Amino acid sequence: MSMINIQVMRSGPGSLSPFRAGGGFGYVSCIRAGFRRVRRIPGVTIAVCLTSQERNGFLGLRFSINDSCTSCMACVRVCPVEAISVSGQTVEIVEGDCIECGLCVPSCHHEAIDVVGDFDLCRDTLSTGRAVLILPSEANVYFYPATPEQILNACYETGFSAVYYEQLGDELVAHEYQRLWGNEPKRAWLRSTSPIVVNYCRTKLPELLPFLAPIVTPAVALARYVRQIEGAETRIVYAGVGAPGFNGDRDVFDASISFDELEALFESTDVNPLDQPLTMTRMPPERRRHLSVAGGLPRDMLEENRQSSSRFRKERGLESLAPIARAVLGDESSLGFIDIQPFEGNLGHPAYGPPEDLYWRKDLAELLELSPSAEPVVDPESAPDLSISFDQVVSESASVEPAEIQRILDLIGTTPDGRAWNTGSCGHSTCIEFASAVARGRSTLALCPIYLGRQYQRAARDALHDSLTGAFTFRVLTERLDEELSRASRTGTSIALLFVDIDKFKPINDNYGHATGNALLVGISEILHEAVRSTDIVCRYGGDEFVLILVNPDRRGAGRVAEEIRENTEAFKVPVPEGEVGVTLSIGVAYHSGITQSNLTREELMAEADASLYVAKAQGGNTVHPAIGGQLVR
Ligand code: SF4
Ligand code: SF4
Repeated sequence: MSMINIQVMRSGPGSLSPFRAGGGFGYVSCIRAGFRRVRRIPGVTIAVCLTSQERNGFLGLRFSINDSCTSCMACVRVCPVEAISVSGQTVEIVEGDCIECGLCVPSCHHEAIDVVGDFDLCRDTLSTGRAVLILPSEANVYFYPATPEQILNACYETGFSAVYYEQLGDELVAHEYQRLWGNEPKRAWLRSTSPIVVNYCRTKLPELLPFLAPIVTPAVALARYVRQIEGAETRIVYAGVGAPGFNGDRDVFDASISFDELEALFESTDVNPLDQPLTMTRMPPERRRHLSVAGGLPRDMLEENRQSSSRFRKERGLESLAPIARAVLGDESSLGFIDIQPFEGNLGHPAYGPPEDLYWRKDLAELLELSPSAEPVVDPESAPDLSISFDQVVSESASVEPAEIQRILDLIGTTPDGRAWNTGSCGHSTCIEFASAVARGRSTLALCPIYLGRQYQRAARDALHDSLTGAFTFRVLTERLDEELSRASRTGTSIALLFVDIDKFKPINDNYGHATGNALLVGISEILHEAVRSTDIVCRYGGDEFVLILVNPDRRGAGRVAEEIRENTEAFKVPVPEGEVGVTLSIGVAYHSGITQSNLTREELMAEADASLYVAKAQGGNTVHPAIGGQLVR
């Protein structure tokens, strides 16, 4: 994508729809000025000129994330097909995996998701003079307060040679549904007039593909019909809030644009729907229905729904599809026809505006709909072939090694009783789904609060423990020594502090390398831990020194522990090429018993142990030198 220019200009207040980036205020002016993509932030419109960007053929609408993204992950949580990948701070929509459901757009509060159609292709198509526009009836709501007649006049005025309302496609498709339902009423069928439902099944639930009614969407049906009656040279453009639908061959449309882009097209040709005559300037193709309702179902099937729900079910929302898949595979004959739509009707699509306005939009659409025709409006016998078979979409990143998923699950961990957490806070219903998304680069462990909690605990633990020997760090030594002195002062118990220093450790590192030195440190740490009780503390105090706090030992016991450590270390060896090597220890002991009400401080006790160690060293090393009762014993 090449970015030629960036310009910032003022814009007006908010728009009707989350998709309408400029709401017709700054947006259309920017398009007219040659800018290709427009993004609005509060009070400001940013127009990015992308006219040199060529899209590679017809793609339908494309969703992408711009640089206003703050990586808040809200869109990741709502995307039903994990089409949004997260890598570090970069969030991207994977074009091949996006099913164009639009759910991510209202979830983003940063105006960071762009929706772009084939605007340039549409302009090229218009220049041929043979461009036919297919328009869903929802356009009447979108362009309100312009009347349907004004919208049609505007389309003709802007250069389209004919404008077909999608109702004709609904009629064609409804006839096919009637035939299918009449031929095989005893099995399960899923309505397939929604491209979003079809693409969801193709992507996520391929087991449902045999149950999708094998009929094209109304837009595709109408496009095939139009090409048949207008001639093969006809160029067909679709305008809507979503893609016209999967057609199996991708060649029935020449371009697909959003309503925003249609509005921009009007502007670029100086056409304002509101300035158009209120009566038709040209006789349009049939706009009435006979047997269908909006979306392409036969009216009598819906009547059957009212009378008997066992053969006709209505489901709304993509989340219904997984339970349907389970039910349909269990006993398909009992399900009958399933009227499944991703939203509550076409006007429930997030692109049309907030859900709370849905009933206003529905009322308006009903008001603007023409009365049904008593006669058929299309001859089904002259209709083109409307059958289709659906194939599975296999994402390039779909295959993930089970071992990789397990590795991620291990990082997340399980509940104390060994079950998966499945909290849903990552946006996925199960940990396995989330781990799979992470493995495919579609999510990040940073979205998992359980993982983050474990990371925090690990970091906290690392701050307390020396990573090589597992002994406590100096920070723990000072805190615990203060605690133990305070306890001893309250309760009259005893305390011993052992300073342990490795004799002549530097030559070991110099002569045999740090790996040998580390092996000795680890071994000595184990000897120290084995010699003390679980209530005692072993800390690493610098490179080759350890400090032990013995809690409430007796005088002999403290000496015995020190002597045992010295002896075991003397016997401990690690292998080296020349044979084996070991070290000895010097240990200074500071011991206090019955120190009730004592003012003995940590610094004083450490100074005693240090002085005792100094004597042990002075005696040639491999020695324990005790200091008893606060006095050095020489
Ligand atoms: S919701 Fe918007 S800001 Fe947040 S990650 Fe998605 S695109 Fe970015
Ligand atoms: S449009 Fe739908 S499928 Fe595509 S990224 Fe957004 S939420 Fe996901």
